[in-house]
Amino acid sequence: MRCSVCNESTVVEVRLVVNSHVVVMKSCSICDSRSWTKDGVEMAVTGILEAASKR
Ligand SMILES: [Zn+2]
Repeated sequence: MRCSVCNESTVVEVRLVVNSHVVVMKSCSICDSRSWTKDGVEMAVTGILEAASKR
């Protein structure tokens, strides 16, 4: 997988399950750009944290 910012194939994917939602963080080790998806939908990290703090 390639980074959409610097086009290097240095993207690390971290998969988590938050309240039974699949959350994936993709992080580039070159330019440090990060993107988050929840259930396959891209979203801001604040939305992820909100979902994680809901009970
Ligand atoms: Zn990058």
